[in-house]
Amino acid sequence: MELLYKSTRGGQSGVRASQAILQGLAGDGGLFVPETIPALTLPLEVLSGMSYRETAYEVMKLFFTDFTEEELKHCILSAYDEKFDTEVIAPLVKADKAYYLELFHGATIAFKDMALSILPHLMTTSAKKNEVKNEIVILTATSGDTGKAALAGFADVPGTKIIVFYPKNGVSQIQEKQMVTQKGDNTLVVGIHGNFDDAQSGVKAIFGDRELQEKLQKAGYQFSSANSINIGRLVPQIVYYVYAYGKLLENCELTKGEKMNVVVPTGNFGNILAAYYAKQMGVPIGKLICASNENKVLYDFFRTGEYNRNRPFLLTSSPSMDILISSNLERLLYQIAGADAGKDKELMEALASEGKYEITAAMKERLEDFCGYYATEEETAETISDLYGETGYVIDTHTAVAACAFRKYSADTNDQTKTVIASTASPYKFTRSVMEAIDKEKYKSMEDLALVDELSAISGTEVPKAIEEIRTAPVRHKTVCEVKDMKKTVLAFLKAE
Ligand SMILES: *Cc1c(COP(=O)(O)O)cnc(C)c1O
Repeated sequence: MELLYKSTRGGQSGVRASQAILQGLAGDGGLFVPETIPALTLPLEVLSGMSYRETAYEVMKLFFTDFTEEELKHCILSAYDEKFDTEVIAPLVKADKAYYLELFHGATIAFKDMALSILPHLMTTSAKKNEVKNEIVILTATSGDTGKAALAGFADVPGTKIIVFYPKNGVSQIQEKQMVTQKGDNTLVVGIHGNFDDAQSGVKAIFGDRELQEKLQKAGYQFSSANSINIGRLVPQIVYYVYAYGKLLENCELTKGEKMNVVVPTGNFGNILAAYYAKQMGVPIGKLICASNENKVLYDFFRTGEYNRNRPFLLTSSPSMDILISSNLERLLYQIAGADAGKDKELMEALASEGKYEITAAMKERLEDFCGYYATEEETAETISDLYGETGYVIDTHTAVAACAFRKYSADTNDQTKTVIASTASPYKFTRSVMEAIDKEKYKSMEDLALVDELSAISGTEVPKAIEEIRTAPVRHKTVCEVKDMKKTVLAFLKAE
């Protein structure tokens, strides 16, 4: 049976998966959601014996129903291969009463690789299926990790170009170096004078610019998005929650039907939404604990039912979560409003005009699976240092926000449910913050790349290839622009002025 997609704002329906992947954002500015969330067709005991790739196929075939078995398997095999430094793709590490689901073993050592290593294949397959002749231009705003993962995925993929905007002063030194050294003639990396929300709003404005799209159409281009609003990113993220449950079952850490909680360090709300979808597919997930840094819009939202972005934007040591507008929340709102596109539109309009909205009491009741916690900068550093001191296990700043949320949740509730913490980045990606959390006096005067060797020594882990590469790679991208000139920059790169 074919699963079709519709916009959360009601303007589009009956859309095939491949079309939704190509389009990214719906024409009315909404996000594509599946008409229903499919249930797993195999029992979890069977899934538990499967490899990551096999699990990926079992999950994705339920969502991408217009892909043939051959097409989908080809996408999966091309994505989850030697680019990952471990056969199991997403290992689970037990430390301090929780299971850390390490989602950072791909090419750019952050969890974005889990979806962005497959998205280019899903997209080029979708283009073929729909007889698209235009070149596809991926336009992406990044808070640091999406950008590099998307660049790595799309570099030199025939029939595509990719343009990435990042906040010039809002990413870590290593994140920036990773991006500006990107190879591939079809790539462009641009620093903007603004924060991530400015970059994201700028990209959304370009997507919504009809005149511009017509101009590009004539020049043989069409836009798509690699941001986490693309359904082609969301669905691959469901896989690792199914896989994690299966592995815990296989290793007898869980018994059949036993619940697991998940804690997700959250920014744009894509990763945790994938866990929520996994739950609805039949994975016995209990609580979904949404962990925020000091930009705690979501924490406030889950406590009060009011979403309010009118507050200072803080730069923290977990920059990939420095976000005040969590785009994927719109999919959850739509669902808890009872698939009411009118309500969703009303809330999104309020967010655009007043920077806030409040959900109804009935909607709030449907949020009972979720709870929000946040970690201050100090608590984040303390968590890294404590966990290292107690277990020798070193986690990055984003994962530490989640680990701290888990500690707070456990202290508040005494809930003994087994818990999986989404470990979203390698500590090597945020070496400075991690090392200073462990010993500020000792490490504060050392260079980032020297700290990398220290980290390797204290953690007993090998320096990942992604870091070794940037030590010597030349800078290839030097473009910087104002937020208001983003459109101009795009046109210049495409030579479509
Ligand atoms: C993107 C990112 C997050 C936030 O994930 P969302 O899906 O946007 O909520 C958390 N940690 C890291 C390391 C990331 O790169």
